[in-house]
Amino acid sequence: MFRRVLVANRGEIAQRIIRACRELGIETVAVYSEADADAIYLRQADETICIGPAQGGRSYLNIPAIISAAEIADVEAIVPGYGFLAENAHFAEVCQSCNIAFVGPDPETIEAVGNKANARAMAVRAGVPVVPGSDGPVESEAQALEVAKEIGYPVMIKASAGGGGRGIRIASNDPSLINGYHAAKSEAEVAFKDDTVYLEKFVENPRHVEIQILGDRDGKVIHLGERDCSVQRRRQKLIEEAPSPAITPEQRKRMGDAAVALARESNYHNAGTVEFILDPGGNFYFIEVNARIQVEHTVTELVTGVDLIQQQLLLASGERLELDQDDVRLKGHAVECRINAEDPDRDFQPSPGTIELFVPPGGPGVRVDSHCYSGYRIPPNYDSMIGKLLVSRPNRRQAIATMLRALDEFVIVGPRTTIPIHRRILTHSDFRAGEHDTGFVERYFSAPHPRITS
Ligand code: ADP
Ligand code: ADP
Ligand code: MG
Repeated sequence: MFRRVLVANRGEIAQRIIRACRELGIETVAVYSEADADAIYLRQADETICIGPAQGGRSYLNIPAIISAAEIADVEAIVPGYGFLAENAHFAEVCQSCNIAFVGPDPETIEAVGNKANARAMAVRAGVPVVPGSDGPVESEAQALEVAKEIGYPVMIKASAGGGGRGIRIASNDPSLINGYHAAKSEAEVAFKDDTVYLEKFVENPRHVEIQILGDRDGKVIHLGERDCSVQRRRQKLIEEAPSPAITPEQRKRMGDAAVALARESNYHNAGTVEFILDPGGNFYFIEVNARIQVEHTVTELVTGVDLIQQQLLLASGERLELDQDDVRLKGHAVECRINAEDPDRDFQPSPGTIELFVPPGGPGVRVDSHCYSGYRIPPNYDSMIGKLLVSRPNRRQAIATMLRALDEFVIVGPRTTIPIHRRILTHSDFRAGEHDTGFVERYFSAPHPRITS
């Protein structure tokens, strides 16, 4: 196992990684930007190094600065968390060439699955069902029209390099497809420096269900069940839960087997997620692989009892996966609400600034993963997550009751937060019945945001 690692991230996930390391007896070196100099988790790290000014590009995304810090601090590994450099194959390669372990999959795997059109092709090879769509990238208007004719409207135009809910458009006829095709390409070029796009059938009223996987260097791969992330706004997750209220044990097994098959096909080591959408008829289709730990890994931890960050560290250090598929038992029900400093009444505008008073909820069944405290100033430079509020209870009904109680208890004075919208979602009859799909939030709680290009 590693003796000393560098944490190449900030906020709640930096704190989460430091906690995991301390329990394993691993020393931590935390890097920070000038905007994060007062972060509380810096006090829990064994060493801290300032790597640059607030702008991400000059600090948390600055590869030379991070590698220099790693060399100076003499660490054996770098833990990237999510966002920033977590899915950057080049960074993983630089780590390798400097003899520093990257806590994630191999650069070749990140590269292969990071291109979403390529990941689709791998899924097909692994016998995993994919959404009907183009075979690989779409190279011209004419080809886009041809594919759309074959699969039928509405279709989705997706950036191969896309992520975070961005780089996606919907088209419902030929003219909107032509517009959308060009708009998506230029958007993707600006956002991801790669204008490759592909086409997928737009599945109506789907659920988002994803499988957590773990793989070791001997090729052993297991899955830890699913997370249901159907509560989304603009294709970004707001609430996640495990298990999914929408699938049967048989479907879980089939989706789990499919995720494992794809992981084998891509030579996957470490923790990862295979995302699917589930249509109202119960058919599931692969959409993408996230080659990193995800924000919502926590709900899986609560229902399986497995510490996923510790597993990442163990696997990256070359240890074998001790868990067998049969050891994975799902217990109870877990729900996570992402608490963001955003104003749900003003189209979720970011609401950074000082948190005057911060009193997190507690009591039976509650977990709060947050780096915030009273007096903490949320910098405007990064995403607006204040923290994740989680509950785990014997069943879904009880979990929702505990979550509502915990949301009521949560005191955050200063910035606007997403707490009120969570309360409204959790009391809605469709959510309570477990019958919501990915369109649920926009349908009931916000102004329509169709993103249809016409
Ligand atoms: P998930 O939420 O399923 O883990 P997302 O694709 O929504 O996956 O992204 C995970 C997190 O990574 C987001 O919450 C966001 O904070 C962060 N993130 C995504 N893209 C970037 C980026 N380009 N730069 C910095 N952070 C990012
Ligand atoms: P990202 O890389 O931005 O996370 P995804 O491909 O995972 O992009 O898609 C983001 C979200 O968009 C999904 O969680 C789902 O809600 C929706 N989505 C993706 N593909 C489809 C599809 N073919 N039909 C309907 N909805 C989809
Ligand atoms: Mg996704």
